Amino acid sequence: MNLGRQPMPVRDARSRVKNFDEVALGYSEQQALLEASRCLLCKKPGCIEGCPVGVEIPSFIEHIKNQAYKEAVAKIREKNNLPAICGRVCPQENQCEKYCVRGKKGEPVAIGSLERFVADWELKNSGSLIEKAPPTGKKVAVVGSGPAGLTAAADLARLGHQVTVFEALHTPGGVLVYGIPEFRLPKEIVRREIDNIKKLGIEIKTNMVVGKITTVDELLTSGYDAVFIGTGAGLPYFMNIPGENLNGVYSANEFLTRVNLMRAYLFPEYQTPIRIGKRVAVIGGGNVAVDSARTALRLEAEESWIIYRRSKKEMPARKIEVDHAREEGVQFQFLTSPVKILGDEGGQVRAVVCQRYKLGEPDASGRRSPVPVPGSECVMEADTVIIAIGQGPNPLISRTTPGLEVSRKGNIVADPATGRTSKGAVFAGGDIVTGAATVIEAMGAGKKSAAAIHKYLLNN
Ligand SMILES: Cc1cc2nc3c(=O)[nH]c(=O)nc-3n(C[C@H](O)[C@H](O)[C@H](O)COP(=O)(O)OP(=O)(O)OC[C@H]3O[C@@H](n4cnc5c(N)ncnc54)[C@H](O)[C@@H]3O)c2cc1C
Ligand code: SF4
Repeated sequence: MNLGRQPMPVRDARSRVKNFDEVALGYSEQQALLEASRCLLCKKPGCIEGCPVGVEIPSFIEHIKNQAYKEAVAKIREKNNLPAICGRVCPQENQCEKYCVRGKKGEPVAIGSLERFVADWELKNSGSLIEKAPPTGKKVAVVGSGPAGLTAAADLARLGHQVTVFEALHTPGGVLVYGIPEFRLPKEIVRREIDNIKKLGIEIKTNMVVGKITTVDELLTSGYDAVFIGTGAGLPYFMNIPGENLNGVYSANEFLTRVNLMRAYLFPEYQTPIRIGKRVAVIGGGNVAVDSARTALRLEAEESWIIYRRSKKEMPARKIEVDHAREEGVQFQFLTSPVKILGDEGGQVRAVVCQRYKLGEPDASGRRSPVPVPGSECVMEADTVIIAIGQGPNPLISRTTPGLEVSRKGNIVADPATGRTSKGAVFAGGDIVTGAATVIEAMGAGKKSAAAIHKYLLNN
């Protein structure tokens, strides 16, 4: 039987855009079994190499085939502490699934959807207790509770170290809670995954801005034997064009944080101070831009536009999310970029002046560079403009930690294999080192650092 890939069921586009409920519904048991039956359980599986944390994919899929879901999720948890999250937001198409043998002549096995199925099964059927080594007597401080920090913390706690996580915001989770919207990653899922990790005895101290309330050096002198920094890329970039200071211009970071942490997604229960008007223009082409445009529609914008300076092919956002955005009514202006934002007499945004582009030669990243088309300026009306062109590192920690080497862009310099920084006992990983990347890459960095910190603690 030539069985095709099982599609992920999703809610109808017209109804889903009216609220923040999760769009993708997850596999039924029958679908999961059909999809698992497509896996060839390869002797030399490419899929594992494509996974930044090395999940033993064929083994967990084999457990699904045998309907042994508890064993399946335990297998994933050996390497991945956040399976319900990764099953939802990991770009599997560029990772495990890209290397799946089945993909060579057809469609790869839907590894992410299977991961989500068993992780959700586990959340419904009581979380698993993760095994833990006896106490080592060593203490580690983890700064930041995004995927990098949470993974490092969980692995270190499993190795028997006493771990405290310091988080600047009032809620742990990093971008998982204040960036990625509810309709892609429900907060309840993140909360339950974090609760699972906390069972390892990890303490999470929120409202603790390291660099202000305490410093990395003070953590080291107050009894912590090592520090892991996973503070992410929380500083939004702007375009530096005229009009960016007008009312109604947001960074995507501010816009999504307001929606997520001030609970605009629970409208009308919560009245959140975001005025978006009828027409929203989002500048950028990544996941952050697509999330912002879809969020704007859910906040009752009549039109939501993505303005991107390259073509659809070059968009870095996940294809499935771009497709979902289009189904929901998000509109796209490709090969277009703003040159200035216009305001009214009251200082409120009223339009964006854009320039058209064509694609030239590939740039350093291999993508074809956009070249402006002379005389092609056009005006797009807009009540709100959201800038989603990337984020960089917040300089607070580097400024308050003497001896910590940072790159020209302000990222912490760390050995990619170990997370070791220029400062003894200090390790770092995730977006603060690489610049804005992905959840699983941040987790991979947290994992490598945890292993290196363990080695360091045993030798010191
Ligand atoms: C809107 C949006 C959508 C995305 N969609 C996807 C997706 O679909 N798939 C995907 O794989 N990736 C996606 N990403 C990227 C992904 O979320 C990040 O790469 C990942 O979260 C980085 O993890 P991190 O642990 O390095 O940092 P973060 O998740 O940024 O966590 C850093 C944490 O450190 C805290 N912190 C910062 N400074 C301090 C301080 N001085 N003291 C204490 N705490 C501090 C922050 O408050 C935060 O909680 C998306 C990102 C955004 C913004
Ligand atoms: S490469 Fe594809 S078919 Fe082979 S084991 Fe991995 S998921 Fe299964």
